[in-house]
This record gives sequence, C-alpha cells and structure tokens, in this order.
Amino acid sequence: MAEVDASRAGPVFEWDTPLFRMAHTQFEQALPYAGVSDMVAERLSYPERAVIVSVPLRRDDGSIEIFPGYRVQHSTVLGPTKGGLRYDPEVSLGECAALATWMTWKCALLQLPYGGAKGGIRCDVKTLSLREVEKLTRRFTSELVREIGPQSDIPAPDMATNEQTMAWIMDTYSMLKGYAVPEIVTGKPISLGGSLFRREATGSGVVMVAEQAGRRQGFELAEKTCVVQGFGNVGGVAASELHDRGARVIAVSDVSGGFHAERGLDIPGLHAYSAEHGSLAGYDRCERITNDELLELECDFLVLAAREDQLTGANADRVHAAMVVEGANGPTTIEADEILAARGIPVIPDILANAGGVTVSYFEWVQDLGRLFWDRDEIRRKLADKMGTAFDRVYSVAAEKEITLRQAAMVAAIREVAGALEARGIYP
Ligand code: NAD
Repeated sequence: MAEVDASRAGPVFEWDTPLFRMAHTQFEQALPYAGVSDMVAERLSYPERAVIVSVPLRRDDGSIEIFPGYRVQHSTVLGPTKGGLRYDPEVSLGECAALATWMTWKCALLQLPYGGAKGGIRCDVKTLSLREVEKLTRRFTSELVREIGPQSDIPAPDMATNEQTMAWIMDTYSMLKGYAVPEIVTGKPISLGGSLFRREATGSGVVMVAEQAGRRQGFELAEKTCVVQGFGNVGGVAASELHDRGARVIAVSDVSGGFHAERGLDIPGLHAYSAEHGSLAGYDRCERITNDELLELECDFLVLAAREDQLTGANADRVHAAMVVEGANGPTTIEADEILAARGIPVIPDILANAGGVTVSYFEWVQDLGRLFWDRDEIRRKLADKMGTAFDRVYSVAAEKEITLRQAAMVAAIREVAGALEARGIYP
C-alpha cells in the first residue's frame, strides 16, 4: 500500500489536484484583504461534504460498465448548495471540489441564498448513445437521492449536460418521491417549470459585465473586436449577444479548432452550421486557426468560455487582448493571472463574469417554489440589476484595496459568507 505523506495529511490531501490547489490559492491570496477570523478562514478552506458513487450502466450491447460519479458540497452557511453536473472524461473529486468552492464565492458575490456544489460523472458522452446517457443519468440521480433536494442541494447543467439531462433528473427524483418536484433542478425545460431566459443567462451575463467594464474605460461594445473561445451554451450565446450589440466577433472556437475573420464572423451562420452538423468542424467560410493561435489574437475582449486552464504561465505573455472575460470556470491559472496583472490586462473573474447562470437558476427555483411565472423582460431586468450590483461592488473593493478584480471579487464574496458563519457559529 502507498504510504501517506504525513506532512500533507490535512484535509487538503483528499482534494489535492491542480484545480483545487488553484481555487485554494485564490482564496488564500484574498484572505489578507478580507479581514475574517481564523475560524472562518479554516472552515471555508475545504468542502463540507463529498459523495463518490459507482454508477453501473448496461450498455446497448448488453455489457455492464461502471462509471465514477461525484457530488461535492462546499458550504451550507447561506442556504442549500447549488451547482452544475458535468459529464466529462476529466471529472474527479478534486475538480468537483474546486468548482464547488467557486460556486460558493459566486453565489455569495451575487447575494444569492446558496452555498456552492458541483458534481458529475467521469465519462465520454460522445461514446454513449442517448439511451445510455439517459440510463446513466437516472441511475446517478437515484444514487444521489439522499444528498440532493430542493432544500439541500439543487443541481443544474454544466459541460455536456443540458435541459434534457435536468428533465431526466427531475423525473427520476419525482418518481422516487411519488410526486412532481420541479424545484429539484434548474436549467430544465420550460414545460417542466424551467425559467425563460435560463439558457441564455450565462452568456448574456458575460456580455453585461464586459459592457460595463468597457464603459468604465470609456468605450462602448459596438465596434470593438472580440474573440470567443468555446461555442457551447456560454460561448455560443456570448458570441451572439456581442454580435447583436454591434461588436465585431473576429474569432470563435470549439474543440475542433478556431475560426477567424478580421472583418467579423457570420455568427448566425456559425450557429446554423453547428446546429446542423453537431459542431463547427468543417465550417470553411473563414480562415482556420488553432485554439492556441486564437488565444493570442489582438482584440479588445478575449472571452474564455470553453473550460479551465486555458491561459497559463506558458501563453499569458502572448495574450494581445485589452481585457480578458472569464465565461468558463477557472480558465486562467495563478501564474497567468500574475503575468496578465503585471502587463496591465484586466481579467474579469469567473465568479463575477459567469454568474448570470446561477442567478437565473435562483430565479427559476424561486418561481418553482412559489408556482410563479415571470416573463422574459422581467427576468432579464432582474439579472441586469444583480449583475450590475455585483460588478460595482467588485470594482469599488478593487479600487479601495488596490487589488485585482479577482481578489476584489473573492474579498466581497468571502466577507458575505464570513458574516453569516460568524453569526451562526460552529455547531454544537
Ligand atoms: P458546453 O459543453 O455547452 O460548451 C463548451 C464549449 O467549449 C464547446 O463548444 C466545446 O467544443 C468547447 N471546448 C471544449 N474544450 C475546448 C478547447 N480545449 N478549446 C476550445 N474549445 C473547447 O459547456 P458550457 O455550459 O458552455 O460551459 C463552458 C464553461 O462555462 C465551463 O467551464 C462551465 O463550467 C462554465 N459555466 C457554464 C455555465 C452554464 O450555465 N452553462 C454557467 C457558469 C459557468
């Protein structure tokens, strides 16, 4: 048996992965400015609970395969936990722990009554049939039935999960309870109690903060050049919103690579192509570039909306954007953050920039609990208010403390949770 390294045998040992170390380092970098007690700092350093399950699936050919599944709940100080489920070959306990931690800060920054959670199944959905994905989802839900609940932990979509996945979870949970429980998940179809504007919320929120950041520097989005990495739920919507507001989207990418046109891309055309072919692979009405080249293009806004770990110590000195906006979670490493800060390139951090999704998820949950139906304009207005308030708070903390936008967002979020934790104390 492998020997445990006693010097690392604190709780961090359990979560120790590069992504969790990154989330933890961001927390530690913000702590000196947050002014919280040692008890608060220690308690919020690690997730409160984690569940690992083995999910069996009978494949279409009759064979049985077992997939690891996870759900990590970081903090229940402010209310039930909230966070997405991703289906991806890289899902691990440490990855879920990092993403759950960021969800706590994101919910706190937006002043939503939630703590953070994250989960998923380590699998490659591209190798599974739709029927297999459904069975895997339903079995995963039944494995988690004691962990999730409308008052305890509310899942939502993330990478490679969508409205349909949420519908299967809602149906399975409702079958096990014996009555319909739409408020068990958010990001579900409208017909099941999903919210208008949820699908667009994250990408729209990304563009709302980009617009406000531009205004702080004295310019409007229209006529500015934008590069968007990732063309899924977040990046696809962000590209459309930027295009609709008159910005010139000069490059986008998905896993198949990058697409570039200095005069501006035909975003509706790219969406139509992706809807017909399942991805952008094969689109040939512009110049093809690699994802690495895309990150280095000269532009006003670089929107990172693919996945974590995209700007690193190896490429941050070749970024030629005036501003980076994090639509994805954790796309900029600690080393890249330092390089970009030294070069004077502001990074609008994930916990602010992509918080539109969880904010409208919160609206969805409130509507479900109250059996209410708000219209699209009302939801968009409420989202803009919430994003605007959080944005102003982050900018004023950054100016007051002379720290980066990421540190300022973390400070504002940590203080929010700390106030509640101090008041509640440690049970018993
Ligand atoms: P998605 O699966 O819908 O889209 C991901 C996109 O990124 C796809 O176009 C994929 O092809 C592309 N991609 C993947 N790896 C890439 C790479 N190495 N280079 C270029 N493109 C790549 O997922 P999503 O829901 O849009 O989520 C994207 C990111 O945003 C994730 O980090 C997720 O955690 C975060 N996020 C999502 C939401 C939401 O509401 N969906 C909310 C907050 C944060």
